[in-house]
Amino acid sequence: PINPWHIGGPVIKGFGRGSKVLGIPTANISTERYLDLLSEHPSGVYLGWAGLPTRGVFKMVMSIGWNPYFNNAEKTIEPWLLHDFTEDFYGEELHLVIVGYIRPEANFPSLESLVAKIYEDREIAERALDLPQYSKYKDDPYLTSLS
Ligand code: ADP
Ligand code: MG
Repeated sequence: PINPWHIGGPVIKGFGRGSKVLGIPTANISTERYLDLLSEHPSGVYLGWAGLPTRGVFKMVMSIGWNPYFNNAEKTIEPWLLHDFTEDFYGEELHLVIVGYIRPEANFPSLESLVAKIYEDREIAERALDLPQYSKYKDDPYLTSLS
């Protein structure tokens, strides 16, 4: 387990690379306020809880990093909320509590192998977040606070 940390902000447009088409939508938030915090944490895949104050609290799996597959120039945070939403929620305040680390960022030979790995990460997050050491953070008031 890691020391939980908190980040949040309104959901913004990402790169629109069609992650949704791959079944992996990621709700992007601006990293501007969190550059120091982000530089303290290694790139990789994390698990935690995501709160949308008007919709609830959901499990999430998130990649932080440079996305070597896409050759990003900026560190991004890409949380995938593990819930089926019937609509998008751009502009809504999204609060994240990051509670665990799954694996370092890696390079993949193909998009297929990247996607397969992300689905594996999701299974790991789904199960880990049911464990008491991680599930207890679901009640963090930050997740449902509006600012
Ligand atoms: P973008 O490049 O704009 O981030 P994505 O293809 O990554 O587009 O889709 C992300 C958007 O899809 C989010 O901003 C959100 O509004 C919506 N969305 C719907 N379901 C989910 C989900 N389960 N997890 C994250 N975002 C979701
Ligand atoms: Mg996205």
